[in-house]
Amino acid sequence: MKITYFGHSCFLVEVAGVRLVLDPYLSENPHDVVDPASVPCDFVLCTHAHEDHTCDALELSRLHQATLVAPYELAEYFAAQGATTIDLMPGGGIALPWGRLDMTPAIHSSSFELPGGLNQPMGVASGYLLRAGGRSLYHAGDTALFSDMRLIGRHGLDVALLPIGDRYTMGPADALEAIALLQPKLTVPMHYNTTAKIRTDPNAFAAEATRAGHAVKVMQPGESLTV
Ligand code: ZN
Repeated sequence: MKITYFGHSCFLVEVAGVRLVLDPYLSENPHDVVDPASVPCDFVLCTHAHEDHTCDALELSRLHQATLVAPYELAEYFAAQGATTIDLMPGGGIALPWGRLDMTPAIHSSSFELPGGLNQPMGVASGYLLRAGGRSLYHAGDTALFSDMRLIGRHGLDVALLPIGDRYTMGPADALEAIALLQPKLTVPMHYNTTAKIRTDPNAFAAEATRAGHAVKVMQPGESLTV
């Protein structure tokens, strides 16, 4: 399983012959602006509707004939725009020829911003558990710490992608507790330093985790790793 980080919560995962983009945030990503045309993919997974997790979803789907995966209400919206979709809800999943995709709960909101400061609710927020090629990966989405993370990790996790930016998601202290519940072999922090409101030192987080006996890799935008 090869994992490439684009900054914020956006990753490309290549495993078992398929390419999946999680929480697409390429063309507007201040870490590293990337042209969606340069990221061929087969599936695009969105954890929730917020712009910083969906902005290139439809474009990627159009450019690369990728299937969009999202919580039910968001998937219905994407389907109405002409995309091929898979709709899931937390606790449910789908077996695909190359592996299994499960949707996990997340404590967060999901909405589109409308003019006038209004927000259109778009169903629940979620995370994903991806199992393929003998590997397992958990993308937590945007979420608070919750004790049922223990259940998400119960079959073993190779990699956990966890938000650490605070304010809208877990901060570093709660993310350390999340690692203790999930027990992944490797954790990659995400959703930090994209804006001033989520300024966090990922290396301090990694050092704390190392002291507690957990492996953390701070990835730079554009960097890849293989597990
Ligand atoms: Zn969000």
